[in-house]
Amino acid sequence: KLSRRLQVIADLIPKVSCAADIGSDHAYIPIHLVQNQQISTAIATEVAVGPLTVSQKDIQAAQLQDVIATRLGDGLGALAPTDRVQAAVIAGMGGQLISQILERGQKQLRSIECLVLEPNNDEPQVRRWLNQHHFAILEEEIVQDGHHIYEVIKAQKQSNVAKLTPMQILFGPILLQQKSAIFQKKWQHKLKQYQMMYNNLQQAKKPDCHKMHGVRQQIQQIEEILQ
Ligand code: SAM
Repeated sequence: KLSRRLQVIADLIPKVSCAADIGSDHAYIPIHLVQNQQISTAIATEVAVGPLTVSQKDIQAAQLQDVIATRLGDGLGALAPTDRVQAAVIAGMGGQLISQILERGQKQLRSIECLVLEPNNDEPQVRRWLNQHHFAILEEEIVQDGHHIYEVIKAQKQSNVAKLTPMQILFGPILLQQKSAIFQKKWQHKLKQYQMMYNNLQQAKKPDCHKMHGVRQQIQQIEEILQ
């Protein structure tokens, strides 16, 4: 059984003939997707040999080695045009790393129509990259799994993508519309953190005005959406 986080990711992946899971580690997602007939074939990629071996073991244990291929390689560079990958998942990494993988993988992205991304942090950076590279954010989910709250973004390639506002980049265009209970919990927690940071900055011997302005702005933006 998948964890809540992985289940939410899996549910956002469209029914395609071939999907890639970049940085797959244990290959839980491709195994689940094939077993549920959501996809027919998959490619599980890894940059490191250790996790790739784990993927291979899990795929073999599920007897799915004929339909799930494994590849060692950096990001989308592990894929070839002949793979005909239609959707790619990149999950469980920092937002900065996910953005770098997308930036370096633009050649492979020409044939990929759909992305399902779960950055563990720096979500705005991922949204900004998508917005600047013809990917429209169609769905977003926010989920609590254990002590962590995760945001999952589904984007589709489109020729005309409306420019997102700074607030949509920060909070997520769909999450901002929905303002779910988990969303409010996340941002209430962040608000407290920023308020504490602001108080500490205020009490410093030499207050850093530039930093204080930045934190003040974050506080105002969060207060605005939590009203
Ligand atoms: N995707 C799985 C998930 O969400 O549960 C595994 C997440 S695990 C925390 C991150 C994995 O990404 C690691 O196994 C790591 O080796 C892999 N990784 C990191 N950088 C990568 C890159 N540039 N290309 C492919 N895989 C990468």
